[in-house]
Amino acid sequence: MRAAILRGPDPMTIEQVNLDGPRACEVRVKVVACGVCHSDLHTINRAKAGALPIPVILGHEVGGIVEEVGPGVTSVKAGDHVVVAFRPNCGQCFFCLRGEGQLCERPDYPERAAAGTAPRLTQEGKPIQQGIGVAGYSEYTVMPERGVVKIRQDAPLETVCLVGCGVTTGVGAAIRTAKVEAGSTVAVIGLGGVGLNVVQGARLAGARKIIAIDTVDSKADLAAKFGATHFINAAKEDVVAQAQKIGGGCVDYAFEAIGLGATVTQAFNIVRAGGTAVVVGVVGQDVTVPGLAFLREKRLIGSFFGSATLQHDIPLYVDMYMDGKLNLDDLVSKRRPLAEVNEAFEDMKTGGVARSVMML
Ligand SMILES: [Zn+2]
Ligand SMILES: [Zn+2]
Repeated sequence: MRAAILRGPDPMTIEQVNLDGPRACEVRVKVVACGVCHSDLHTINRAKAGALPIPVILGHEVGGIVEEVGPGVTSVKAGDHVVVAFRPNCGQCFFCLRGEGQLCERPDYPERAAAGTAPRLTQEGKPIQQGIGVAGYSEYTVMPERGVVKIRQDAPLETVCLVGCGVTTGVGAAIRTAKVEAGSTVAVIGLGGVGLNVVQGARLAGARKIIAIDTVDSKADLAAKFGATHFINAAKEDVVAQAQKIGGGCVDYAFEAIGLGATVTQAFNIVRAGGTAVVVGVVGQDVTVPGLAFLREKRLIGSFFGSATLQHDIPLYVDMYMDGKLNLDDLVSKRRPLAEVNEAFEDMKTGGVARSVMML
């Protein structure tokens, strides 16, 4: 099959690779579409720094069709339309049993472990890594059953693939992790694919004011399509002062959707006494906040994968899109063939697009 392979600092190349059939509790998925997500850029940077095994196939926001299932698979069958989840939950551990499957430590459940750990992807006998456990920039991928979630057949895969990461992460951060209250005031820092979904999550929750914050002016109109009521250009204005002014000194929630220590500090400083700052971005550094603010009962919390129970939330978000309650159409700025995968990453780096989707 064809796949885009990353071998280090150079751009990805389209090459032929071999994929094993599904083993016990595994599913082979024909990839129809795969979103280009910012966390793949983190992966590229880590691979360039030698911190990640290569060669690797990236891409983890997959909408596809089940091609073949391994022994023991019961939740999907050939022909089912699915969204792939990059972080499967085992359904059996301490966290899963508590309903916090996003925190599952993914001890590969016994059936799959018995099928062996030999690489699923190879090229001339040499292993190729499955980036973030998925490898979506390829014609097919093999996933554990619990990382493959069945959705309705009438939903367009080239759009609902985004539910596999950005939509679930952003919407879930607002309605699941933070449980934004109706009538509240919310600030969102960073209007990429995840931040825009935090905005619409806050809208769904009934927020009164939604302050969208970015350094690119063109994001103002885009954010408004997802429910933002105000916009702050962080390159031109004092974010904390301006957000507090708009919120009348009472911003209840602030979300950081970039992944920088400095913007986490901003989010924390924006919220009122008793308010909650939520870190959604991947922050690879230490964070500094004023300690005395904790006497004012300010809260700083993390959010991962939208605190989602995947098997419940992924079909739900697809249904909400089909019902017109979630806006996914305006998230997709561009669809490109796999051969243009490097161009799609360039688009993301320049911040000019909300989301590109690769069509396999
Ligand atoms: Zn992602
Ligand atoms: Zn678990």
